[in-house]
Amino acid sequence: MPSVVDVFGVTALLAIFGYFLYIVYYTLDLFFLNPFARLPRLTEHEKATIAANLPLYRNLSVRKRKRFHKRVVRFRSRKKVIFHKEVTDRDHITLLLSATAVMLTLGMADFLILSIKKILVYPAAYYSPLTKQDHNGEYHPGLKTLVFSAEHLMEGFRIGNDNMNLAVHEFAHAISFNVANKLNVRSYIFLIGMRQIKRLLSDSNFNNRMDQSAYFRSYGRTNIHEFFAVSVENLMETPGAFRRQFPKLFGILRRMLNLKILSDKT
Ligand SMILES: [Zn+2]
Repeated sequence: MPSVVDVFGVTALLAIFGYFLYIVYYTLDLFFLNPFARLPRLTEHEKATIAANLPLYRNLSVRKRKRFHKRVVRFRSRKKVIFHKEVTDRDHITLLLSATAVMLTLGMADFLILSIKKILVYPAAYYSPLTKQDHNGEYHPGLKTLVFSAEHLMEGFRIGNDNMNLAVHEFAHAISFNVANKLNVRSYIFLIGMRQIKRLLSDSNFNNRMDQSAYFRSYGRTNIHEFFAVSVENLMETPGAFRRQFPKLFGILRRMLNLKILSDKT
């Protein structure tokens, strides 16, 4: 008959062994299954969706596409997208928003865009208590929040060459806020670009050419920040026409965003 001491001893040994196994498992989990390795890769269907909705994606080399895919997956996992209960196609919207952010920041190290914490998506145009108006989309630097109407977002992607893309427009505002006023070279280059754009906008020749071509929509005349966001929409959707009609501005924006895929052959 085993004594009480023997039973106690065996139970204690099993408990220690069990704890040891748990520690081994935990350590393996930490070192071999880190959170990034766990992120699922983009599926072929998701890659095809990006290709169908972001015209510039087709310009990326195989190597750049791999980097692009990894960044999309990480951006998607880090940003909190909050949907109104009536919004459908949530995964589709999150994928396209993430891909747009990654495309615009492809030439930058900070592709996670620290100036965006939250993204709110309403089903259609929404009333903003801040401006007391209906909006399709906006960026609040103070709240680090992007807000979109799903209907207008999808409309922006549906026609790939009409130079209107709400996601690109609002992300351009957020990136401008994220890059400017930092103590680094990228910020300096960005601010020089903004100054050059300001000079162009006060040049009568440039204004006459803009009026004649009607290439940029008139909303860009609101102020320099809107002009930047509108120009980036054109840059993303019709880079070839942009370079041919406004080569100087094309070069300025390419430098500001460090977008090397926009070559002279674009
Ligand atoms: Zn705007």
